[in-house]
Amino acid sequence: MSKSTDELFKNVISHSKEYGFVFQSSEIYDGLSAVYDYGQNGSELKNNIKTYWWKAMVQMHDNIVGIDSAIFMHPTTWKASGHVDGFSDPMIDNKDSKKRYRADQLLEDRIAKLDEEGKTSEAEELQIEMDNALKAEDLPRLRELIIEQNIKCPISGTANWTEVRQFNLMFSTQVGAIADESETIYLRPETAQGIFVNYLNVQKSGRMKIPFGIAQIGKAFRNEVIARQFIIRMREFEQMEMQFFVRPGTQKEWFNKWKETRLKWHLALGTDAAKYRYHEHTKLAHYADAAYDIEFEFPFGFKEVEGIHSRTDFDLSQHEKFSRKKMQYFDPELGEDGKPYGNYIPYVIETSIGLDRMFLLTMINAYDEEDLSTEEKQDSRTVLRLHPCLAPVKAAIFPLTKKDGLPEKAREIMDKLKLDFNIQYEEKDAIGKRYRRQDAIGTPFCITVDHQTLEDDTVTIRHRDSMAQERVPAADLDRIIGDMVSW
Ligand code: ATP
Repeated sequence: MSKSTDELFKNVISHSKEYGFVFQSSEIYDGLSAVYDYGQNGSELKNNIKTYWWKAMVQMHDNIVGIDSAIFMHPTTWKASGHVDGFSDPMIDNKDSKKRYRADQLLEDRIAKLDEEGKTSEAEELQIEMDNALKAEDLPRLRELIIEQNIKCPISGTANWTEVRQFNLMFSTQVGAIADESETIYLRPETAQGIFVNYLNVQKSGRMKIPFGIAQIGKAFRNEVIARQFIIRMREFEQMEMQFFVRPGTQKEWFNKWKETRLKWHLALGTDAAKYRYHEHTKLAHYADAAYDIEFEFPFGFKEVEGIHSRTDFDLSQHEKFSRKKMQYFDPELGEDGKPYGNYIPYVIETSIGLDRMFLLTMINAYDEEDLSTEEKQDSRTVLRLHPCLAPVKAAIFPLTKKDGLPEKAREIMDKLKLDFNIQYEEKDAIGKRYRRQDAIGTPFCITVDHQTLEDDTVTIRHRDSMAQERVPAADLDRIIGDMVSW
């Protein structure tokens, strides 16, 4: 990471804390690793991202509906989905520091270092060796590679490693108060299974016809061993997922459609397209027949934000097998042979985006330190250039002074606007300082009420990005703000 990008990332993290976007969870007890809380501005921004997704996916598609399924699910769900047996990472412990690492991550870091040193063929060779070992689930081979490369623990500095073991990422807990009656259940590691187990309920109660989708936003939990890069890898996080059910044989076409549609959703926020790229999975999960990630260029490199997966009929077939409930769909449409397509288990295209990664992407993208120096004086401001529809506060209202009835007039204007928008009232400090505070949280408009307002009911409206000011009738504010912040 170069100094400037490293600095940008650090600045975004401290800005997030200083302005009430993201706090370390339980900070007064020194925090809980890889768990974060969203503050007063962060939760507004997060809600706005959710709304943008929900509107684009559910409201704009008459064949997609949304649900909200429970975090706890019947434990057989996770046997059927493959998570009990297969949702694990290969872990290795250093015997001296007693620290645990992901074996593949140690090797990835080594590959990146070799690359940095210009040893590209060595890096490529190691990558292939590692991929083969992972594919074959050859844990002793992973350990051998770590030893061969003389990879040392960053804490103890030694290469005294244990065996490599699989470590399941699901959190478990017990239901029931009496130990004997208790049963192990899991905190869901993805929201998708809540959709699959409700597929029949939704299809029947909504009289949904293929192709159709079910969307949901919700918490997911993974016992990630390496917590790093702020809210990129958390133990409790949120996903926005949509499962799209299609006729077998049409999955490729729908996969391509969703791959494009989802990237468009990202770009519609005005993000530089060069910051995004697709990454095709070459190692496919056992259930997938195609998979692409949408990656964003974070200050520490390109990282996955969203996955688009063609999951075949794997999940529904598994649930049919484990629950013994028929997951078949009867398709009355006529095929080329003039006969109905009839009964089949639908194929599924999934779009799965991490809300927290989307949040971080949005903050990084919006964060700007603007130099406003003139020949006379040095000046700068920190401004969050958020898309107005995502801004936590849509407009701030300032009475010019705290007297002469200006606060009362400002509050009167605010009371009307707050029916439609999240508005903030501020009367402390000079106007310039108030502008800076609003710039720092990305408020698109600052409205100043002055003595002239009392005479002609006009106000000054100042635009965040251009800093331009104009005088407008107070009666027009609702429309002006609405035009900018609407979806
Ligand atoms: P990674 O390879 O980065 O661990 P993944 O491939 O396991 O991610 P998926 O299972 O496809 O991720 O989950 C879909 C999305 O959920 C990801 O694209 C990511 O945005 C988000 N996500 C996954 N794990 C985490 C996590 N621990 N913290 C925050 N977001 C996550």
